[in-house]
Amino acid sequence: MPRIALGSIFTECNQLGGAPLTLAEFERGELSRGEDVLKATAGTVGGMLDALRAGGATPVPLLVASACPGSEVTADCYTTLKTELLERLRASLPVEGVLLALHGSAAAENAGDLEGDLLTAVRGVVGPTVPIVATLDLHAHVTRTMVEQATALVAWETYPHRDAFTTGARGARLLLDTVRGKCHPTMAMVKVPVVTAAIHGGTDGPSPFADVMRFAKWFEGRGRVLSTSVFLVHPYLDLPEMGSGALVVTDNDLPEAVDLATRIANLYWARRRDLEPEVASPADAIERGRRIAGGPVLLVEAADCCGGGAAGDSVATLKALLVAGGTDRAIVPVVDPRAADVCHRAGMGGTVEFELGHQVDPRWGTPVRVQGTVNHLSDGKFRYRGGIFDGQQGDMGRTAVVRVGEIDILITTHGTYDWNGEQLEAVGLDPRGVKFLVVKNPMNYNMAFRPFSTGVFVLDTPGPTPATVKGVPFRNFRDPWFPRFEELEEPRFWVYTS
Ligand SMILES: [Zn+2]
Repeated sequence: MPRIALGSIFTECNQLGGAPLTLAEFERGELSRGEDVLKATAGTVGGMLDALRAGGATPVPLLVASACPGSEVTADCYTTLKTELLERLRASLPVEGVLLALHGSAAAENAGDLEGDLLTAVRGVVGPTVPIVATLDLHAHVTRTMVEQATALVAWETYPHRDAFTTGARGARLLLDTVRGKCHPTMAMVKVPVVTAAIHGGTDGPSPFADVMRFAKWFEGRGRVLSTSVFLVHPYLDLPEMGSGALVVTDNDLPEAVDLATRIANLYWARRRDLEPEVASPADAIERGRRIAGGPVLLVEAADCCGGGAAGDSVATLKALLVAGGTDRAIVPVVDPRAADVCHRAGMGGTVEFELGHQVDPRWGTPVRVQGTVNHLSDGKFRYRGGIFDGQQGDMGRTAVVRVGEIDILITTHGTYDWNGEQLEAVGLDPRGVKFLVVKNPMNYNMAFRPFSTGVFVLDTPGPTPATVKGVPFRNFRDPWFPRFEELEEPRFWVYTS
């Protein structure tokens, strides 16, 4: 029975804004160690455990830590998590392989390429011959270091992300085949400088990203191709060599891996213009939304996406709704710990008045003064059904719903990842009953609300997760890239090989 070490440090980081990730965010998310790790039945780690057990291997649990995205992981926090994971690994030796559930776009204050740094450290402990397989989000920023230090990398293939479990299992099976000498992974990552938001990055319906994914997946399992992954790079990092493309793992055939990854990256480049979304101002979207019969009309404030690392504290769309006036019912989520505290002190039915918004990350706007009635109070706990955090508890912290005119404002202490409308359900807000529903994510609203919505407008508002990154002044990412350099006809290619 091969002994396989299993660990995870998982989050996505935003280098344009948001609030730093400390140990408290991981404690509020997921932080399990040793035997507790073995209890996971869902998510990437659950899938890894399932496949290891089915494959006759003994999982050796290290540390599993995950947090809702934010800005960078603090140096203290990363050092603490990394040190514990490595200590547990050293204490577990010898192992025949290592499985890591990673994101690929995490960044620490003391390690810009967090996953590259972690893989290097793990490689340092187990030595050059023990296979290491890591799973990644398809929004990973795959670096040369990651490709050189890992034996194989496999990424999720769905967005909205529904396949954490099966990807964990795929990674585990590939590792076991490698450990048993059934295959010898060789790997190539080829990227082109396309940096777009994820609005058209879905894999469900017709979309440019879905087309590239289908093309890539056709090759998986054929000939010597062990795994194909397509990446739409998390566009809110600011690191060298940001790009999107493909990673191909072959059985001892590096030229084939390079060749196929290049073909997929070429297709990605050809579809780049289809990835840029159309955007509207909040005022324009509200005016056009009013001409649509019924609701909800979705106002997609993508720039304030907690799942992409933003603070969730923008009131840009709320301001436009207040200015527009009228009798349209609306729901707007805003993260504001201070306002949540005021509501809890006022109690149910209390009247409150405060400056709301832009308190956590004040770089993107100014607060708005609101007066209203407290209609709901809770501890903000809820449970995710499906997705990457399937079965886990979400924690908005102290939460309130304040009615301002016809608008219900969901005020929370902490930002949380949006999956399938769990937050609204937890506080008893019915999205079917309103004219306008403000959503703050670029994709999962399609699954949660679009089936019963009457219209959708993707908004152009200030924030660290904008719907188009055309105007983002990257400092560390210096290469010409699409869409900023719209006229760029020939891409440059970054090619990393194992
Ligand atoms: Zn993702």
